[in-house]
Amino acid sequence: MPRPILAAISVAALSHNLNTVGQLLEQDVSIGIQRPSIWAVIKADAYGHGIDRALSGFALADGLAMLDLNEAVHCREAGWSGPLLLLEGFFEPEDIRVLDQYRISIVIHTNEQLDMLENSQVVHAVDACIKLNTGMNRLGFQQTEYSTAFARAQDLQNDGVLGLVGKMTHFACADDDPLATEAQLEVFNRVTDGLPGRVSVCNSAATLTPGFAAQVAPHAEQWVRPGICLYGASPFADRSAAQMGLRPAMTLRSELISVRTIAAGEQVGYGYRYTATRAMKIGVVACGYADGYPRHAPNGTPIVVDGVRTQLIGRVSMDMLAVDLTPVPAAHVGSPVILWGIDGPSVDEVAQACGTIGYELLCAVAPRVPRLSS
Ligand SMILES: *Cc1c(COP(=O)(O)O)cnc(C)c1O
Repeated sequence: MPRPILAAISVAALSHNLNTVGQLLEQDVSIGIQRPSIWAVIKADAYGHGIDRALSGFALADGLAMLDLNEAVHCREAGWSGPLLLLEGFFEPEDIRVLDQYRISIVIHTNEQLDMLENSQVVHAVDACIKLNTGMNRLGFQQTEYSTAFARAQDLQNDGVLGLVGKMTHFACADDDPLATEAQLEVFNRVTDGLPGRVSVCNSAATLTPGFAAQVAPHAEQWVRPGICLYGASPFADRSAAQMGLRPAMTLRSELISVRTIAAGEQVGYGYRYTATRAMKIGVVACGYADGYPRHAPNGTPIVVDGVRTQLIGRVSMDMLAVDLTPVPAAHVGSPVILWGIDGPSVDEVAQACGTIGYELLCAVAPRVPRLSS
């Protein structure tokens, strides 16, 4: 029998979350303004949930956005016929042939990419978004370069190399700083003003900020790019996914593989990080950092055993971690454990206890953990 750990992935939750985001966007649509279209972001193997499950869960998305060319090809070959967008664009001239063949759209963020396109021929024009750096200083053309880059893209469009040419940027602080986000949007609007084409600026946090998407581009076609919220985790530190009607798509669960009672003063795990202050029952769970559970999780990180919320004690080892069974005295070898997800702590609660974000925990679930669709 394999180790009892597994990640149960709910395809129904993926669909539900996509639908919830769609309804939210619908609410802000006023007469004469279209609801933004949704690129469901499925990078990093769909935030650890698996591309194929994402293809089922997001079957009704308007498009799918990702990073890896091979993943995009995989989506096509699996039967996805809608738009596919590569968020970092492409890297080598040879990639252009694949974009052409599989009708994959790209973000263009450097002059090197324009150079490569100018030296290539395609059968089908490639759709593109020209990315502006509005402050994050990660990808995108500088404000001073943008109109030149956009004009080059329009020339490529006239030559039939590019098809649709749109405008995009990415927000650095949409989760916690509305003023910084407004400032980025203002730069975007100023620099792209008068240039034609569709607009894409919103990640999950901006998409979920009431009224924000509606004010972005009331007169242009808009595409939003939510990622984390579609998996049922929150981009915000102060608004839970559940409060926004989102459902966890991943439940990481395991079982107790050992139970013992220790006396006051006894210690637990590597480095003896935990010392019992009284006699207590503890359990060992088949889940460690080699499964993707964070090694730096502190004593007190929430865990559910046999339906009862308790806490991690001691340092997380490679393959195991220990829990306090005081509130679950009947727990035994084989009792179910939920690390995060449905009926457990949310991935965001665990992340917060560990000083990180749900994104990192979801993406870090190791390949050795079997995924089970539910
Ligand atoms: C990852 C990513 C997104 C989605 O971000 P979330 O915070 O997960 O919604 C959107 N746009 C770009 C360019 C990204 O890299």
